[in-house]
Amino acid sequence: MSDLTKQERRNKIASLLHEVLRLLGENPEREDLKRTPGRWADSLFAYMEGIEVDPESHLKVVFQIDQDECIPTSEDMIVVDNIQFTSTCEHHVAPFRGVAHIAYIPNLKTRRVAGLSKFSRLIRVYARRLQLQERMTQQIAAAIDKHLDPQGVIVVVQAVHFCTLQRGVEQNSSSMLTTARRGLFSERPELENKFQQYLSMRLDTSGVSSSVVN
Ligand code: ZN
Repeated sequence: MSDLTKQERRNKIASLLHEVLRLLGENPEREDLKRTPGRWADSLFAYMEGIEVDPESHLKVVFQIDQDECIPTSEDMIVVDNIQFTSTCEHHVAPFRGVAHIAYIPNLKTRRVAGLSKFSRLIRVYARRLQLQERMTQQIAAAIDKHLDPQGVIVVVQAVHFCTLQRGVEQNSSSMLTTARRGLFSERPELENKFQQYLSMRLDTSGVSSSVVN
């Protein structure tokens, strides 16, 4: 595929999708469907844009907490919650949507931390490809573990899968929860309890961006 330009790949996909519509029993030549194969191909590229991006590139720029501000025995965790994403289930090529919550305890020697937006971008790159929720959760934890080298990290992902909403069992209210732990979070269950506590007391920030602060 690499010998084709993006435009050539897009046109080829569109012509295959034209055939898919026909095989499904539709008439791809009818007025409202004429541009659908092209739009569908463009959408597929958007859903899969993460395939060609190195997710870890977003964690290469990290900050360091000052040594003076770091207590030598600290197990203080940093929690980044409610990161929204939309991904594509690789078994049914249907969307799944949800949120990710992350907590990590910085390494006391390197004292590396990352900005909020880095986590959103990391998750987006992993989400924008054919995925399994279980694997995505592990990949996020592994990337943070590798680049921030924290004492511990935990990633919790909760998502609704449209393949279960739209077909088969039609479980409308069911969601899936996956977790991945590294370091201290695998060894010390009380840290996970603390993390769950923080999540349950988090502020409702849904109105913050639209409200005026005096
Ligand atoms: Zn599925």
